Amino acid sequence: MRAAVRVEGTVQGVGFRPFVYGLADRLGLSGLVGNDAGGVFAEVEGSRAAVAEFLSRLERDAPPLARIERVTVTDLAPGGPAGFVIVASQAGQARQALVAADSATCADCLAELNDPADRRFGYPFINCTNCGPRFTIVGDVPYDRARTTMAAFAMCEACAAEYHDPANRRFHAQPVCCPACGPRLALTGPDGGPLPGDPVDPLATAADLLRHGQILAVKGLGGYHLAVAAACEQAAATLRARKHREDKPFAVMVADLGAARRLCRVDTAAAELLAGPRRPIVLMPRRDGPGIAAAVAPGTRELGIMLPYTPLHHLLLAQLGRPIVLTSGNVSDEPIAYADADALKRLSGIADAFLAHDRPIHIRTDDSVVRAFRGRPMPIRRSRGYVPEPVGVRGGFPRHVLACGAELKNTFCLAKQDRAFVSHHIGDLENAETLRSFTEGIEHFKRLFEIEPRLVAHDLHPDYLSTKYASDTEGVDLLGVQHHHAHIASCLTDNGADGPVIGVAFDGTGYGTDGTVWGGEFLVADLAGFDRAGHLAAVPMPGGAAAIRAPWRMAAAYLDACELAGSGSLDVARRNARQWDAVLALARRGVNSPVTSSAGRLFDAAAALLGVRDEINYEGQAAVELERLAAPGERSGYRAAVTPGHPFQLSGTDLIAAMAGDLRSGTGREIIAARFHNGVAALIEDGCVAARDRTGLRTVALSGGVFQNMLLLHATVTRLQARGFAVLVHSQVPCNDGGISLGQAAVAAAHDRAAARQA
Ligand code: ZN
Ligand code: ZN
Ligand code: FE
Repeated sequence: MRAAVRVEGTVQGVGFRPFVYGLADRLGLSGLVGNDAGGVFAEVEGSRAAVAEFLSRLERDAPPLARIERVTVTDLAPGGPAGFVIVASQAGQARQALVAADSATCADCLAELNDPADRRFGYPFINCTNCGPRFTIVGDVPYDRARTTMAAFAMCEACAAEYHDPANRRFHAQPVCCPACGPRLALTGPDGGPLPGDPVDPLATAADLLRHGQILAVKGLGGYHLAVAAACEQAAATLRARKHREDKPFAVMVADLGAARRLCRVDTAAAELLAGPRRPIVLMPRRDGPGIAAAVAPGTRELGIMLPYTPLHHLLLAQLGRPIVLTSGNVSDEPIAYADADALKRLSGIADAFLAHDRPIHIRTDDSVVRAFRGRPMPIRRSRGYVPEPVGVRGGFPRHVLACGAELKNTFCLAKQDRAFVSHHIGDLENAETLRSFTEGIEHFKRLFEIEPRLVAHDLHPDYLSTKYASDTEGVDLLGVQHHHAHIASCLTDNGADGPVIGVAFDGTGYGTDGTVWGGEFLVADLAGFDRAGHLAAVPMPGGAAAIRAPWRMAAAYLDACELAGSGSLDVARRNARQWDAVLALARRGVNSPVTSSAGRLFDAAAALLGVRDEINYEGQAAVELERLAAPGERSGYRAAVTPGHPFQLSGTDLIAAMAGDLRSGTGREIIAARFHNGVAALIEDGCVAARDRTGLRTVALSGGVFQNMLLLHATVTRLQARGFAVLVHSQVPCNDGGISLGQAAVAAAHDRAAARQA
């Protein structure tokens, strides 16, 4: 029989044609394979059994970087030419073929890297069709070398021969190169000039510098990192001081899984994430013991670990023989440096030397961060290694959509057909540099995926820069999407679901439809709309934004709500005695004190009440430290009253009052912190039961940054499942505001589909 086969998805630049060629060859099939704008097309002819085997292996044995979305098979009249050929690429109109994400050095390349007989032995830029840089070097499509930052490196004869040989692992690998023709490594001083003594071996010298406690800037795939030896107390402390990063933990890179297991408890799912081709930072429970300086991740129960993902990392770690801190190359909250001149300017005051090279980075892309939750990945930051792989959206997008995301941890999303391209992590849209990444990133994605948005979705918050960008866009329809509806729509889409569900959106801040600050929401929602079924009872935020930076102010507001604020016996009041009464007065009179139903602010209040933290240095810090304090084994929890109604209200104040009571009776802070977490989980259960009683819905979607709290998430999922709920959590995009753009896009699509049905 003879069949035409079309393969759609991420199938170009990943070795798909040589794979098809080899497969057909082994099965004795004749025919052809080629690339076009839609992906890969092939024709195969042979016995029925051989063609069937071909089709089954096509998906099962596909190259590691390929992501097959769809295979379409149609019968052809037999009688094609004998032999099997790879045909020339065909240019088409619509750009359907997808740019692949960057991928860690594969086992074959690693073997060559370590083989003294190989011509790429020890070459820090070795790659092939199965691995290497992709998204971070691509300037335009179709994806070929001339449109990448490899354009300036002309292939030598040996590389060109591999590139043109269909049987070679490097057939049409765009970044293919070798020591004779490719990028070169250089080690320079903090001013970009030569180091004293002009060392001949940059890698050995770099490793030596690290061994001696120096700070090294290292050029990676999507930006510059700052590195120190992870065991070196003084180096880690100096790095912290020079970066102006007070408490936020640093990530650590180790040579292999064995080294990771010595530092952390690594379960099966975490091991897969660590060693897989995407190579994110994986957050895992840390073991006690030496090896990591205290200043790396002060007082945490988790450690963020990644394995080497470029040949340069492999070589550096092999030279050094011990773990390194590898943190983003920037000062405190600035975006990570990626352009060489800018990196030199911004990092010269931090780094003692630069280990860099002459292959430019086209687009800034941070390391991704994930956890494993009950055997599945749970992204915290989705960026390098994942982007620009699309998220599939059932029902699809009738019109091209741009979703602008939120303000903090911004991502944007461009979408067409049934694909949503969620951007790399842009960051907090508060300085000119991140705003430029945002606007330039949107233009880049529009070009790469040929998307011309007709419908632009945005947050309801009028002051978000992403909202302003949307309203400044001309000639498009605008759609405002409520922040927590976007969270729930994001979780639905992440799970391939449409709803309706009971959506629990717990986060720090989101603009409500009534103009107040929401963040502890029970929404009965589908993709098209939502009903606010219930929420945390609102309390004032004394001083507005000042209350976000100073959790003790939320403790004052909550204690005042349960009439305990006056009791001078509480430590939080004593510690903040100078401003306590003035802040209470603000809250009581409602002066500069917007009310909020935010769950994040409830966690802040609890943390301050327990003396965990009165003021924060980074978003979510108080909650992170409260979670760390909690005694893991404690089973009991506080109870919050439910005030029936529509919306029903849950009393966070009850939890705070119970905590104050336990504090006064001398209960340990670890126990109280655990009872608080269990109390919030019980409160969520009560809210979901109340929503189920009214609607009959039995599925709950959990979203919002508060669910990055693993103690809370485990307790909540366990309780909900015990009560017969099906529970949806995130596994493709973050539950925090990094996932908002996907939710906005999904809501926009649902609106367009509904409009199309009515027309
Ligand atoms: Zn490779
Ligand atoms: Zn070469
Ligand atoms: Fe949020």
